[in-house]
Amino acid sequence: MSSTSEIQIRNVSMVYKGQKGEAIAALNNVNFNIREGEFISLLGPSGCGKTTLLRLMADLLKPTTGEIVIGGLTPGEARKTRQYGMVFQNPVLYEWRTIQKNICLPLEIMKIGRVERNEIAEEMLELVGLSDYANRYPRQLSGGMQQRVGIARALAINPKILLMDEPFSALDEFTRNKLQEDLLKIWSKTHKTVIFVTHNISEAVFLSDRVCVLTPHPGQLADVIDINLPRPRSNEVRDTPEFMSLLARIRKCFMGV
Ligand code: ADP
Ligand code: MG
Repeated sequence: MSSTSEIQIRNVSMVYKGQKGEAIAALNNVNFNIREGEFISLLGPSGCGKTTLLRLMADLLKPTTGEIVIGGLTPGEARKTRQYGMVFQNPVLYEWRTIQKNICLPLEIMKIGRVERNEIAEEMLELVGLSDYANRYPRQLSGGMQQRVGIARALAINPKILLMDEPFSALDEFTRNKLQEDLLKIWSKTHKTVIFVTHNISEAVFLSDRVCVLTPHPGQLADVIDINLPRPRSNEVRDTPEFMSLLARIRKCFMGV
């Protein structure tokens, strides 16, 4: 298969079974490719199947029909070879472990030795700007800082693909904008393929190379929009006419939905 498409989503549909056995169509015939190293967003209102699509890629669900290929592998093979890092809305940190020890946890599970674990954790803490907080506990950190720990922990195993499900949705706008800027810096340093789920149009435009617009009932890929804003991007780009016109273009995709 083509080596330029790291992730291929081919004719993917997902139908859940409801409590009374009824069929709930979550995704209908979704097709697109994600390039290696690309920053892509899955954007759409609540219930349009964003989380479902992310879970299908991560091998946490199997599609009803269709196929997903991850760099020539099945999602199951990609998961077993630890190609995914995942970040969720709630970072789910262990309260009794320090920040450093939280980041080390996936490395402990991989049976990586203490010295190497600590080296990696130090590097990750530096990457997310939390070097001074290594020995603090999660409750001593703000929500934004906890989310940085979640990112550091996901990257500790050096995955090729970072899957992020509304990671900044619970944060205030100022913290959120700062984390978006910092995530782009982390991405440019680490060269991961990032798949970022959000229902926030401006967040998707600010971050992405391309935005996949999903519309609900059932989830369909309505459009894939190229975001040709120059990089590196900082918060000033949000005030440019190019940014605003991209927002307007994407808003149009949801009219009448
Ligand atoms: P989003 O992340 O965009 O909000 P989801 O992928 O969570 O959307 O859900 C898409 C649709 O599938 C929704 O209608 C939701 O109610 C339904 N759904 C999600 N998970 C399940 C499940 N485990 N069982 C039944 N229906 C589900
Ligand atoms: Mg969701």
